[in-house]
Amino acid sequence: MNSFWKNRNRLGLLILWLAASLATAPARAQSSGPQYVVQEGDTLYSIAQSFGVSIDSLQQANNITDPSLLAIGQRLVIPGFEGVNGTLATYRVRLGETLPGLAKRFGADAGTLIRLNRLTRSDSLYVGQPLIYPDTGGGIPSGRTVVMANDPLIALAARSGQSPWALSLVNDLQSPLSAFTGQPIVIPDDSDSAKPLTGLPQPFESLALSPDRPIQGGAVELDVHANGGVTLNGQFGPWLLRFSPDPNDPTRLIALQGIHVFTEPALYPLTLTAATPDGATTSFEQWVAVASGDYPFQQLVVGPDQSALLDPNIVGPEREMVLQTVSTYTPTRQWDGLFVKPVPSERITTGFGWRRSYNGGPYDSYHDGIDYGSPGGTAIIAPANGTVVFAGPLQVRGNTTIIDHGWGVYTGYWHQYQIYVTVGQVVKQGEAIGEVGSSGLSTGSHLHYTMWVGGNAVNPEEWFTTAFP
Ligand SMILES: [Zn+2]
Repeated sequence: MNSFWKNRNRLGLLILWLAASLATAPARAQSSGPQYVVQEGDTLYSIAQSFGVSIDSLQQANNITDPSLLAIGQRLVIPGFEGVNGTLATYRVRLGETLPGLAKRFGADAGTLIRLNRLTRSDSLYVGQPLIYPDTGGGIPSGRTVVMANDPLIALAARSGQSPWALSLVNDLQSPLSAFTGQPIVIPDDSDSAKPLTGLPQPFESLALSPDRPIQGGAVELDVHANGGVTLNGQFGPWLLRFSPDPNDPTRLIALQGIHVFTEPALYPLTLTAATPDGATTSFEQWVAVASGDYPFQQLVVGPDQSALLDPNIVGPEREMVLQTVSTYTPTRQWDGLFVKPVPSERITTGFGWRRSYNGGPYDSYHDGIDYGSPGGTAIIAPANGTVVFAGPLQVRGNTTIIDHGWGVYTGYWHQYQIYVTVGQVVKQGEAIGEVGSSGLSTGSHLHYTMWVGGNAVNPEEWFTTAFP
């Protein structure tokens, strides 16, 4: 045998060996299933639990001999998902998103998502739900997913300003004619303001809830884009939503709602019903998770001089009058952008939402505003444009002013020394409306500032840094 053949055989062996070693250990770990990156606090048991696999199979798939040696950042192959690749990432479900729509966007099939997240087939996704998906590195395409209605893809393409062939390509369709009714179709969005819309029935075009994780004592904003002059009704948990069109964009309907501080952290249904001018109605429902506001607990001792605070015959009617006043919806929005602080004080003596127990009783009340420590006589300014709807003395709240800013948003000012405004007066942001005092049941000069949205008191501080809408 000459040296040429010898070398050629050696080369062949080398190639065989290379091919064999590529096909074994490291490469197999890459291709035999999706990978989970170990996070702080994870144990092999918790990982096995969350993916519904046994600890044994997890150990075997990853050659783990000592389960206590799990390192943060370590990549583990999750067995039982052969054919699924990528790193497992978590996505938080937004309003309007459905399982088939998200599967489409993730480039995964719905069955994989069901198994990865241990969902039952009847589960519908709730807003704020953490959803595990295999991230193959391409990122989630921005855009929206709609469910094919009875009209052809060409009509959908026309409505969304896309070519039917471009849509076919993005959605792996052989031709625009092969899309079927009920199929989720991704509509790519190249604009900066990609809309989180999926699987919505007509006439809903897009929905957005912000924040997408509402908390107790927070305000939520619901933005709905709908076709063709619809009227919209909605309900979130126990609260009826009131919608008004955005003056700059009449196809955009906006509702604001405060989440009551005593709302149990749980899932609540959000229901929207759109009525088109011809009388046809379409409903959409999705559950939304409300999270705890983690407010502190406070014990108060009330002496005989403040016993009116505990007398339901005094406290009750006054509270009812205030609630009545702030529960009226005025369809004109008067404010624009951020609210400003009503007094120049950095000293919060009692924060919003604090749970209160009086004289050792149950924590069945809460502080519905912010107490700003401030010298008597300090000017109080209107935090935003509005109309005065109450101005006068009350037994508990002292000299009181309430301003209606429109769209169900109200602000209130208690314990003033002087009130400068009268009912019906229109005030501008920054205009002086009164002076800080200690009138009513108060132990020192301070401004109690409350804000309501949709009849519920919300944390006013959020409105200093976040513009609604
Ligand atoms: Zn207070």
